[in-house]
Amino acid sequence: MESADPSPTECNPLWEAWRGGSAPADQHCAGCAWQYMGGRGRPVSRCHRFRGARVDENWAACPAFIATEDLSCDDCGACCREAFHVVELSPRDPFRAARPDLVEQEDGRHVLKRNAQGWCPCLSRTSCGFRCGEYEQRPRTCRDFTLGSANCCEARRRVGRTP
Ligand code: SF4
Ligand code: SF4
Repeated sequence: MESADPSPTECNPLWEAWRGGSAPADQHCAGCAWQYMGGRGRPVSRCHRFRGARVDENWAACPAFIATEDLSCDDCGACCREAFHVVELSPRDPFRAARPDLVEQEDGRHVLKRNAQGWCPCLSRTSCGFRCGEYEQRPRTCRDFTLGSANCCEARRRVGRTP
């Protein structure tokens, strides 16, 4: 007879850090955006959420699970909102010439202004999420920001989309 699947408490030791909270059922570390392969020597499965702790890809998901396959910027905008406070522009970034009204100097650097909420001024809320009004000509810093990266996950954590 097949045994029942172990509960997350039994099969994901990092779960204990949460002292409660609920995790999605039927999900595993392998499908989580926090999970990555890395470390010194032979790369092994690790978790950005737990400061690079080793995780088994077959462990049941913990409450911080972010489904890689469902990640979308449309309903998020975290990285352009208050998650990060500075978007620096390189001296040669064409955005500086294209939208000088949205750029200011801070400590000798060129950065995007922020609106009263602390958001990037290019971001607006729509009926179904968020929208960048300058997406086609967005700065290099924004182009280099990758969906599903550790910084993306951290941005989502900072605005409360994940614990
Ligand atoms: S955050 Fe993701 S990878 Fe890390 S332990 Fe939780 S489910 Fe696994
Ligand atoms: S935090 Fe990640 S998912 Fe959210 S808008 Fe930025 S890149 Fe997209």
